[in-house]
Amino acid sequence: MGLAIGVDVGGTKVAAGVVDADGQVIEKVKRVTPAASPEDTMGVIVNAVSELLARYEVDAIGVGTAGFVDRERSSVLFAPNLAWRDEPVRRQLEDSLGRRVIVENDANAAAWAEVRMGAARGHQDVVMITVGTGIGGAIVIDGRLYRGRFGVAGEPGHYRVVPDGRLCGCGNRGCWEQYASGSALVAEAREFARRSPSAAIRLIQLGGGSPEGIDGPAVTLAAREGDAAALRCFGIVGGWLGAGLADLAAILDPGCFVIGGGVSDAGDLLIGPARVTYQNGLTGRTHRDFAEIKLAELGADAGLIGAADLARDVLCPVAGRAVRSHRCAPALRSQSARRRLRRRRHPSSNHRPAAARGSRTRR
Ligand SMILES: [Zn+2]
Repeated sequence: MGLAIGVDVGGTKVAAGVVDADGQVIEKVKRVTPAASPEDTMGVIVNAVSELLARYEVDAIGVGTAGFVDRERSSVLFAPNLAWRDEPVRRQLEDSLGRRVIVENDANAAAWAEVRMGAARGHQDVVMITVGTGIGGAIVIDGRLYRGRFGVAGEPGHYRVVPDGRLCGCGNRGCWEQYASGSALVAEAREFARRSPSAAIRLIQLGGGSPEGIDGPAVTLAAREGDAAALRCFGIVGGWLGAGLADLAAILDPGCFVIGGGVSDAGDLLIGPARVTYQNGLTGRTHRDFAEIKLAELGADAGLIGAADLARDVLCPVAGRAVRSHRCAPALRSQSARRRLRRRRHPSSNHRPAAARGSRTRR
């Protein structure tokens, strides 16, 4: 099994890396994302991948991107922090690079990496929750990513846990991420500092003298020092996290939850309270096993590691791994050769390039 390139496309940066079959990143390049322009975003990805292709022989290329990716792993339907709207990302990349490419949602790619090489190794049924500014997620059922009918499954941050609760950026009220995310942690700390300044002296000090200056790292630092106000904030937010996990377990019954994202750097400060409310909230808890709740292991590279591994899996199936219909095809033929090949294979199809038709392979 050879090397693959994984790309992680976020709203602020693009990271591309050469990844070996064990998930080790051999070389990585980073670029700032020109997020306002769909063409410029594409150009930066092509540029980063081309730089790596000039130095390495690779079997497959996978892109993990923020936003909704369609079921065919072909187009980005919508990405809140990028200008892509129904953007045919896979076809554009394949045309530019002359190589087969797969496109996947970044949280799905990260979860895939954690299942294959990280915290959830050995598990077949996994839910990954990414706790950052908001809450992202991904679902693996029976060893396969669950993508839903339209490709956009696994967005639990916007399921509503409080009727008529806090207003969410998505337009609804009471979404889980309004209570169990990094933003919720900061909001909780600022509100407490405004209400009870004498009990939040350390938090206010770390905030530069005002409640409004308190940020996530400040709450984590104060909690690590044993500050009661900061620990209280983690207790509340971790509690909401665990309650949501219990609800997810009622639906999906996973063997393992993996908690990633920036707030997971706080470790047991977040996971400790989450375990308690998860176990207390679990339906039929005295008659069933508790799922493991583990911290993600692969850190910021999880997205590109997972994208590379998915690409290898889908584009270069081998015996012993899941059966795929694609043959490994490192290089596409020239445009005219592809057209000829397409006419032979699909006599009735005259207009769409082969690469633009949905892959028949699903994970
Ligand atoms: Zn929402």
